Amino acid sequence: MTLQSRNEYRSSPRKIAVYNTLGSEKVALDPLDQAASNPEIKMYVCGLTPQEHSHIGHGLMSVRFDIVRRYLAYRRLRVNFVMNVTDIEDKIIARVLATGQDPLVMTRGYTDEFYACLATLKTLPVEKITRVTEFVPQIIRFIEGLISKGFAYITPEGNVYFDVSKKEDYGKLSNQNTSMLFESVRKELDKQKRSPLDFALWKRDESTKLSQPSPWGIGRPGWHIECSAMIHEVLGDHIDIHGGGLDLKFPHHENEIAQSEAFSGGCFANIWMHSGLLNIGGQKMSKSLNNFIVLSEGLENYGAALLRFVIARQHYRSSIDLTDKLFRDNLNALLDFHRLFARLSGLESAQPDTASPECQAVIEAFEAAMDNDFNSPEALVALEKFRSEIAQRLDSGKAGPADVGGQAKLLLELGHILGLFFYPLEHVEAEGLRVNARILGAEPLSREDVHRLMQERMDVRAAKNFARSDEIRNELAARGVEILDSKAGSTFRFA
Ligand SMILES: [Zn+2]
Repeated sequence: MTLQSRNEYRSSPRKIAVYNTLGSEKVALDPLDQAASNPEIKMYVCGLTPQEHSHIGHGLMSVRFDIVRRYLAYRRLRVNFVMNVTDIEDKIIARVLATGQDPLVMTRGYTDEFYACLATLKTLPVEKITRVTEFVPQIIRFIEGLISKGFAYITPEGNVYFDVSKKEDYGKLSNQNTSMLFESVRKELDKQKRSPLDFALWKRDESTKLSQPSPWGIGRPGWHIECSAMIHEVLGDHIDIHGGGLDLKFPHHENEIAQSEAFSGGCFANIWMHSGLLNIGGQKMSKSLNNFIVLSEGLENYGAALLRFVIARQHYRSSIDLTDKLFRDNLNALLDFHRLFARLSGLESAQPDTASPECQAVIEAFEAAMDNDFNSPEALVALEKFRSEIAQRLDSGKAGPADVGGQAKLLLELGHILGLFFYPLEHVEAEGLRVNARILGAEPLSREDVHRLMQERMDVRAAKNFARSDEIRNELAARGVEILDSKAGSTFRFA
């Protein structure tokens, strides 16, 4: 990222406020690392369980935390971002037993596919991906630690459970106390559990090659302990930010806190961040409702640039309802940015203007929004206003390309901090035409088709053949594409 933080222009540097699910309030992000410059932020986000193709919800969460991470880096924090792959888990074992696939080949394949999609979405690579299959000995040691501290017990069958009654503050993340929870849990079948709230740390199981020997017999770890133990190994006992989808708050994150704080005796994560839920067409995404979108298909249907733009226009904590209308409504706004950048040749080598009063104002508005719990929609409002001002100055002739290059470069770089504007105009136009045609159920038009028709229209108008000119306009309009004429030439929008 080339643009440096503008911290140095502030008389009193503002801290980034982050909504902490634990305590349900915004708190200042104070790095655990006390280094005077470039302090490290230890950040862990629960990632993929690769038992099938990743879905668009995985893409949503990854993009949201990528925005967080990009902004922290812009604010000169050294983000040590770890994401896991839960490649040993009940659903994976069920799938392997049902299909006869090799579990390692299956999970590797789905994981690679997921990261290829993230590359298309231009998320920055995380510092470390932890795979459960590579941490089983460490997980076993972590469980042994919990047993020796009296927080876990072994059953005669060789299962190990966490004893929830030993952890007095259990339920603090999801604001539930154990008596409330007792009423909500169904009585489980395992008679060896001391309480129905107790959860498995180790499960006796010899059904697949994912199982390994342990002091309690051949088996495999439970889901929750995997994250706690891997965080302990790669980031330590106390981290700055723990994130994940809101659906993981209970029981997964509650159980992670209980285990990790029982193990270390201290605080586990200073801030718990949760990404809001995903709906498709007003309903929860599910296979039974027939609205399940596999991530690679979502990228094909909506385009990576547009999907990121739509995601950035909603706050990460709010739930998002993806509809065709939402995507189509955002096409023109995204294209407006790319058209401005394309008008200004040499933008790549231009220096951003960070000193003029109007640019200072944009930087301040952008940072104020992002400092307030990563409010990307508000930050984008500031960028859209600035884009429109630059375009108006160019359109009116009050400024030439050379006058606004530094401003546009600033706009481009601030957009990059939200993960936007990495693709060229040609790519975004082509994607937009594809998305538009698919949503309208119209015959797809290529970018070349549209530009050829616009050129033909200019030619026939020059020859005063207005009938053909209207015909072309109507032909495009029938496919949701509207021609706009200006002094600079014709361009198109989505009607
Ligand atoms: Zn986790």
